[in-house]
Amino acid sequence: MLDLTTKEVKERKALRVNPCKTCQPVGAMYAALGVSRCMPHSHGSQGCCSYHRTVLSRHFKEPAIAASSSFTEGASVFGGRSNINTAVKNIFDMYDPDIIAVHTTCLSETIGDDLGSYIMDMNIPDGKTVVHCNTPSYVGSHINGYFNMMMGFMNYLTKKSGTSNGTTAIFPGWVNPGDIRELKRIAKFMEVPSVFFPDQSGVMDAPMTGKYEYYPEGGTSIEEIKGLGDSNGLIALGEIISIEPAELLKKKWKVPFSLLPLPVGVDFTDKYIMALREQSKTEVPAELEDERGRLVDLMLDSHQYTYDKKAAIFGDPDTVIGLTSLCLEMGMVPKYVITGTPKEEFTRKVQALFDKYGVKDCTVKANADLFEFHQWIKNEPVDIMIGTTYGKQIARAEDIPFIRAGFPVLDRYGGTLLPIVGYSGGIQLVEKITNAILDRFDRDCADEDFEIVM
Ligand code: SF4
Repeated sequence: MLDLTTKEVKERKALRVNPCKTCQPVGAMYAALGVSRCMPHSHGSQGCCSYHRTVLSRHFKEPAIAASSSFTEGASVFGGRSNINTAVKNIFDMYDPDIIAVHTTCLSETIGDDLGSYIMDMNIPDGKTVVHCNTPSYVGSHINGYFNMMMGFMNYLTKKSGTSNGTTAIFPGWVNPGDIRELKRIAKFMEVPSVFFPDQSGVMDAPMTGKYEYYPEGGTSIEEIKGLGDSNGLIALGEIISIEPAELLKKKWKVPFSLLPLPVGVDFTDKYIMALREQSKTEVPAELEDERGRLVDLMLDSHQYTYDKKAAIFGDPDTVIGLTSLCLEMGMVPKYVITGTPKEEFTRKVQALFDKYGVKDCTVKANADLFEFHQWIKNEPVDIMIGTTYGKQIARAEDIPFIRAGFPVLDRYGGTLLPIVGYSGGIQLVEKITNAILDRFDRDCADEDFEIVM
């Protein structure tokens, strides 16, 4: 399928081929789905909204509800004020959410719709709320859309009463519902009363009850978002995605924060647990120490097969930083590491990991695309690829074992329910990576090396 990709790499500035990212509103929609009884609303044409919903539904295998301002030629010329006014009335009348979270699209950004003033002049029913954020898709990626929507909620809703609410705010970053459940489980072990924002667990992994609900149980409540300013502190996970919301909360309400990498692998999970310990002053319970020990034991047992194996890792910046750290802990060489999100901080963080572990001749690039990534692999192959579904054609063309992780994974089931964070998430990843390498060995080895015991 991609057999004709050439080896010769040419420097490109204005062209992306097979981008490793999607557009801002996808992130805004996913963040809004993590708020209780919230209807995400796409201020633009229906095609944009359909695409954003589709990619989320295909990844989570759940309906991603959202409404659209349904722009036609008229709104494109004269602006979308009347569309959004009608839409908000209809949405509250027909779907009865507690809050509508509006994000813009390329079109409404280009014509310059001023959503802040539209919302100020709107007739919003008592007890209901409308918030917005700007998500122009010609800058950034879905990662920007995610944190822009978080900041939209915070700008409209957060307050400070002057009295601490006794909780620690936790921004989980862009992770799957299964990851949020694991992060919550660890926080509970560490006896930290916490508010996760946003929180897609329960919403994008809603259990089958036989009855469809627009708003499944789950999500951060409006009251919890209002109370973020009264938090004792904030643990912001994902150094790329969470820094701006964390800085906003600090600037607005003086909430101190710890900015940490996504807790993937031993070291980064240790950091999360130490930050929780700082909040609760509780000793780390034996259960967590045992989990850590089991992960380290597994890494040691499998080390003979993973040591010095070359990995090519791609996807969203914080996920990729976490996966790179885990691969280095396994003795692997993260030969190529890319994200499509244009954040140079990503390259600095990954390069710092290369330096820490002393690995040489590895390449890291932000704002990269999968075409160039493929060309690198053609020039110097790797033993395994780790990333989103969009790598599967490369894996097939080059006959490389492929582990799916990150967003989106459109062609496999169950991944959104299983964590990659925490020690237990680390165990799942080490199991997958090691056994993919062993499966390949079994496939290719000579008969005399085809062992029952490895
Ligand atoms: S037009 Fe813009 S907002 Fe709409 S789908 Fe395309 S990139 Fe996304």
